[in-house]
Amino acid sequence: MITLTGKTALVTGAARGIGRSIAETLVACGARVAIADLDLAAAEKTAAEIGNARGFACDVSDPAAVTALIETVETEFGSLDILVNNAGITKDNLMARMKDEDWDAVMNVNLRSAFVATRAVQRGMGKRRFGRIINIASVVGIMGNKGQANYSASKAGLIGLTKTAAKELASRNILVNAIAPGFIQTAMTEKLPEEAKTALAAQIPLGRLGGPKDIANAVAFLASDLADYITGQVLVVDGGMVM
Ligand code: NAP
Repeated sequence: MITLTGKTALVTGAARGIGRSIAETLVACGARVAIADLDLAAAEKTAAEIGNARGFACDVSDPAAVTALIETVETEFGSLDILVNNAGITKDNLMARMKDEDWDAVMNVNLRSAFVATRAVQRGMGKRRFGRIINIASVVGIMGNKGQANYSASKAGLIGLTKTAAKELASRNILVNAIAPGFIQTAMTEKLPEEAKTALAAQIPLGRLGGPKDIANAVAFLASDLADYITGQVLVVDGGMVM
């Protein structure tokens, strides 16, 4: 059984979608969870619904805001054991039509935020000789996807960051892993054109789309002591789409 009793966690982009499910699951396993999101009211509402959680406002594309958030959570919770870099956005277009600002926006939310947060948590985690950092990447960071040059590059970058951080931080018992979700039913995938959804679903050997809970369960495993000897890995959770 997975137990995280006494542990503290921060999940970014956790007011809804996969992040919310991760927060809920970590609380169910016994952790106290900080729910960070763009909208404070939404984060607080989710925290109140989940219990043993607190909502915080943070735009993860702002490095100063991410650093300040981590300081606040460490002070208010007394420690930060588990960091889940989940906040992510898409701004899809074929490369020929992709604007520089759409490249930068996706990079800053999906990738730079994880670098800044990892840099900020390592002091406290290092001192306590315990840390779990879990980055939510994507299968498109492994296989690419038409119309997602910015998104797939950000997720491939997140995988590179995961491996480097795992090597740099292992000596202090800070384990860093990534999860690469496949096609998960959330608001992010809801806006895909119907034909794209059908084409994606047809590539899933398990024959169903994933749900946020499928990702949350993998996060709970990697955060737990069942995963004490796992670092620098990418756990693909996609119903077999990428093998
Ligand atoms: P989602 O439903 O769009 O939820 C994303 C959450 O992140 C929202 O609460 C959103 O807030 C928040 N957010 C957006 N920009 C932010 C920012 N700058 N700072 C802080 N929070 C921000 O997305 P999801 O499907 O749950 O995706 C979660 C993660 O899984 C992302 O990293 C995504 O790339 C990854 N992923 C998803 C899928 C999938 O199939 N859904 C597949 C692979 C990977 P607002 O509601 O205020 O915008």
